[in-house]
Amino acid sequence: MRNKFIAGNWKMYRDVEESTQLAEAIKNILKDVGPSEVEVAVCPPFTSLCAVNSVIKGSNIKLGAQNIYPKQEGAFTGEISPLMLRSCGCAYVIIGHSERRQYFGETNESVNEKVKAAIEYGINPIMCVGETLEEREKGVTNDVVKAHVEGGLKGIPKEKLQHVTIAYEPVWAIGTGKTATPEQAQDVHAFIRKLLGALYDDAAAQIVRIQYGGSVKPDNAKELLNKPDIDGALVGGASLKADSFEAIVRFNK
Ligand code: PEP
Repeated sequence: MRNKFIAGNWKMYRDVEESTQLAEAIKNILKDVGPSEVEVAVCPPFTSLCAVNSVIKGSNIKLGAQNIYPKQEGAFTGEISPLMLRSCGCAYVIIGHSERRQYFGETNESVNEKVKAAIEYGINPIMCVGETLEEREKGVTNDVVKAHVEGGLKGIPKEKLQHVTIAYEPVWAIGTGKTATPEQAQDVHAFIRKLLGALYDDAAAQIVRIQYGGSVKPDNAKELLNKPDIDGALVGGASLKADSFEAIVRFNK
């Protein structure tokens, strides 16, 4: 069965010293939580990856990046390669976050290239999908999510699918304080799992973890995370404080 997976997306917050302190606090507060219960990852900015890795190495907390460039090395000024992420200890990378689609022109095609590169170099992608408010109001949520999932996973063979986490993040719920109701989220998660079943097969679809993201907080985590197809959370704002992140990780307590 799928274990729950909670990842903190620190976005462009926390310098090296602040990241180190936050990572220390999270490591200490969650030291009794093992991956068979809940898997936990933190995704600091690039500049803090190595420092945070030194803090969490040997603990149950995994490290993730927030972006990747899909080439091993080369003249790509300002970009960060999969090997560089690996050398900092990254086990995960967030790909195609809606902020990157909105502000940095990421498309299903570029997301697909990044997902492929991450898998090739042994980093597990957390691939973000989700509709805008306008799209939800137009009734095209499933069409948008289908295009994101199909486009992002194009060419990924069945035996590699186990490395992929999908994060369903309705754009209207990110950083807004508006959360999808557990029922709204479950409906889309079930839709994604059915889609994976059609694209691959049911066994493959059952292995993929689908996180929910969008204003997850200590007071709504339990209801969301107890839905059958919600396998974890990608947490933004509430991951920047050790106590609120802890409360989400311990959602069933
Ligand atoms: C996110 O950044 O992926 C996110 C879901 O942010 P927040 O929890 O702040 O809505």
